[in-house]
Amino acid sequence: MRPELEVEIVSDEEMAIIEAALAAAAAARPLLSAATVRGAATLSCAAFPPAGDIEDSAPPPPRRSLLSRFREGRALAVTDIAATEWCDKQMEFVLEHGKPERTEAMKAGSDRHAQLEQEVIERVDIAIRSAEESWAVKFMNFIVGSNQLLFNGMTRELPVIGVVEGSWMVGIIDELRMPVDGISFHPILVDTKTRFKATIPSEAQKRNGRLQLMCYKYLWDSLISEKFPAENFFSYFDLNPDFLLSDDVKRYISSIGFNAQTFGDVMKYYKITCHTLSRSQEQLSLRYELQEDHSLLEEYKFSYDAQWFKGQIQEALNFWRGAREAKYVTEEEGWKCKFCKFAPSCPKMPSTSRC
Ligand code: SF4
Repeated sequence: MRPELEVEIVSDEEMAIIEAALAAAAAARPLLSAATVRGAATLSCAAFPPAGDIEDSAPPPPRRSLLSRFREGRALAVTDIAATEWCDKQMEFVLEHGKPERTEAMKAGSDRHAQLEQEVIERVDIAIRSAEESWAVKFMNFIVGSNQLLFNGMTRELPVIGVVEGSWMVGIIDELRMPVDGISFHPILVDTKTRFKATIPSEAQKRNGRLQLMCYKYLWDSLISEKFPAENFFSYFDLNPDFLLSDDVKRYISSIGFNAQTFGDVMKYYKITCHTLSRSQEQLSLRYELQEDHSLLEEYKFSYDAQWFKGQIQEALNFWRGAREAKYVTEEEGWKCKFCKFAPSCPKMPSTSRC
C-alpha cells in the first residue's frame, strides 16, 4: 500500500518546504500539500557543558551551523528569512525548542489565507510515494498556477524555488495579478496580512513584510530570467531525474494536458513554462486587512530595492551559516519581547532565571 501524505491547509506561518499542488481545470486548481514532521530539540543546559580544566580537556568540536543542523538537504523557507529578520534569537529558539503554540490571531490569519486560496483553488488528495513525486506535483502546480495567471489574470498560493545568495530557498507567493491596463505583462506580487485590531502596522512589521515580498520577487524573477540550475537541484535535494512516476501521478499530469513518465520530464515542462512568463513589477503590494470583517486597513505599495534586499539576505544567511551569533531585538523594537513566548528563557530579559 502506498503511503498517503497528510493533507493540510498551507498557512502563511508554516515554514515547511513541501507545499505541493494539483490542478484539474484552468479555472479551478486543486492543490495538495503535505505536512512534515520536524524534530524539536529539548531545552537543556546540557548543551553547554561546564568548563573543565583547559589542559585536561580537548577543544570543543566546532558547533555546526543552524543551516546544517536544521536545513541540511532542504531549502530555507522565505518565512525562515522573515522570522530571522524579526528576531534572530527568537528564530534560534524556535529551531532548538520547537514552535510555540499558535495563537488565536495566527489561526484566524491562516483561516483567512485558506479562504482566499479556496476562491481560486480546489484542493484534492493524491498519493505521493517519493520526494521526486512530491516535487513533480509542486512543479505541475506552478505550471497550472502560471496558466491561471495568464488566462484568468490572477492566481494564489504559487510555490517558487530558487537559489538566493548561494542557498536554496522556497516560498509560496500569496497572490499574483496581471495588470488591468492591458499594456503591461508584468505580474504584480501581493501579500495579504490579517490584523486582529484595526490599527496600522508598525514600521517593523512593514519592514518584515517588505523583505518577505522581495524574497518572492527575487525567486519569481530568477525562475523567469535565469536558467534553472537543474543539476544542482537534483544533487542538493538528492533526487533522481530518471525516477519513474506512479500511475496516479502520471494520470494527474495527463489530466492537465501533459505527458510525463519520469521526474525529468516534469522538470522539462517546468523549465519551458518559466521561460514563457514575464518578470514581476518593481512595485510590490502588502495588503493589511482586519480579521473580523476582512475590511482593508491599508494597501502599502513599495518598490523593490535590490541593494537593501541583498544586505538583508546576507545578514540573515550569516546567522544561519554560523558566521555570527544570534542578535536580540534592538532597544527601539523591545516591544516585540512582550509578545515573545521565549522571553522567560531569553538572555535579553534581565529579570528571568536562566541556566
Ligand atoms: S525575548 Fe525578545 S530578544 Fe529574546 S527572543 Fe524574544 S523577541 Fe527576541
